[in-house]
Amino acid sequence: MAVSAAESVNLTKAIARLAARARDCRLCEHELPHEPRPVFRVEHAAPIIIIGQAPGRRVHETGVPWNDASGRLLREWLGVSDADFYEPTKFAILPTGLCYPGTVRGKGDLPPLPRCAPEWHPRFLKLLNPTLHFRVLIGAYAIAHHLPDHARRPVSDVVAEYEQFAAGGVIPLPHPSPRNRRFLRERPWFERELLPWLRPIIAKILAETANSPRIS
Ligand code: SF4
Repeated sequence: MAVSAAESVNLTKAIARLAARARDCRLCEHELPHEPRPVFRVEHAAPIIIIGQAPGRRVHETGVPWNDASGRLLREWLGVSDADFYEPTKFAILPTGLCYPGTVRGKGDLPPLPRCAPEWHPRFLKLLNPTLHFRVLIGAYAIAHHLPDHARRPVSDVVAEYEQFAAGGVIPLPHPSPRNRRFLRERPWFERELLPWLRPIIAKILAETANSPRIS
């Protein structure tokens, strides 16, 4: 949907105000094992929003989303460079939990804080909607929150219906964590069929965005 220059200015200001409030969020300060540090990037012009699980330790420490092995694999899956991925007019990045939830020794990261997505996602998505093409849902928590009717299904079953979901503006993916290597090995269709289907779609959206006049 085309956005007028005036609308673009208003959306930019509204997103900046909302982002400032989210960065100051302390809702889970008594549940987190550290000071809240929300890590996300949202600009209204982004045509694709990446909705993952929650920052890991490295992301929490650096403040840079997807700045880890999972992020490298995700960019490979999408067929995009680091520069494109971190260009906020191309990708918005909003995890299901904005703060690192902590880790259980030997078991990996804890789940995203449950109050986070209901608190922040609807407000950000409302402001992104005029330009948004796709929500890329990564992993079980993002799928459960954004596709609640499919929350109880195995992630692989939901991902396997990628073409059907894409028609509704959603692309469900498994989490690209190194812990998921076995999941991917056992589902060769993911690399053989889904990724070659996905990359041209992402490239086309980014090319269209690059060719459209900047009005913000
Ligand atoms: S996890 Fe979300 S709701 Fe909780 S403190 Fe961080 S930003 Fe706020």
